[in-house]
Amino acid sequence: MILVRGGGKAELIAYPIGPSLVNWVAMVPVAEPGPLPGDANWNRPASAQEVLRHFDGWDLGWFDLPGLIGNSATILEYPMVDRDPLPSWGEGRVTLLGDAAHPMYPVGANGASQAIVDARVLADELARDFPAGLAGYESTRRKATSAVVAANREMQRTVDERSRRELLRITETYRRDTGAVRS
Ligand SMILES: Cc1cc2nc3c(=O)[nH]c(=O)nc-3n(C[C@H](O)[C@H](O)[C@H](O)COP(=O)(O)OP(=O)(O)OC[C@H]3O[C@@H](n4cnc5c(N)ncnc54)[C@H](O)[C@@H]3O)c2cc1C
Repeated sequence: MILVRGGGKAELIAYPIGPSLVNWVAMVPVAEPGPLPGDANWNRPASAQEVLRHFDGWDLGWFDLPGLIGNSATILEYPMVDRDPLPSWGEGRVTLLGDAAHPMYPVGANGASQAIVDARVLADELARDFPAGLAGYESTRRKATSAVVAANREMQRTVDERSRRELLRITETYRRDTGAVRS
């Protein structure tokens, strides 16, 4: 996996998702963070040229950035959004789970993990008591995920302030704590 930030604001993350398949994400700020002017325009097809112009002048030497982006079969563009925590996720027999309940910036790489934890807590609560368990699920998970949304927003806001040394420390701690490094 590679994560590269340049002198400008563009950031590139790329990682293999199969024997000869790479997923890449180019994060490019195009406006000050704030409410979207219209509906979110999800998964709009984009061209390689459009993406590459944000990486003009990048020369990673060891990594063929124009080749990676230029040879991509599909490129999709979408806004990076989060949302203020909701006061409730539903009523009666209706609730929300995952991104529908707590969309967050992906800087913490934990939106999907939070959806899985939602599912686990929901299943436990419903096994205990249906439909009253829905309220227990919501109060447990709404509090926890609100904190994660706030933490991710803060991480996104302060991304420029994090030093190379701090990033290294976070990466090493993560690898150690998750067993990602085998000795
Ligand atoms: C760039 C990026 C990197 C990320 N990296 C990570 C990471 O490393 N780790 C991590 O944990 N999370 C990560 N996430 C977040 C993660 O992708 C989401 O949090 C997760 O996919 C949310 O799952 P979900 O099932 O709630 O919603 P979704 O994955 O959005 O699934 C909702 C599904 O419902 C379908 N749908 C919508 N409307 C209808 C309808 N009316 N009828 C039928 N189907 C419908 C949609 O097509 C979609 O398939 C990342 C997100 C982004 C954008």
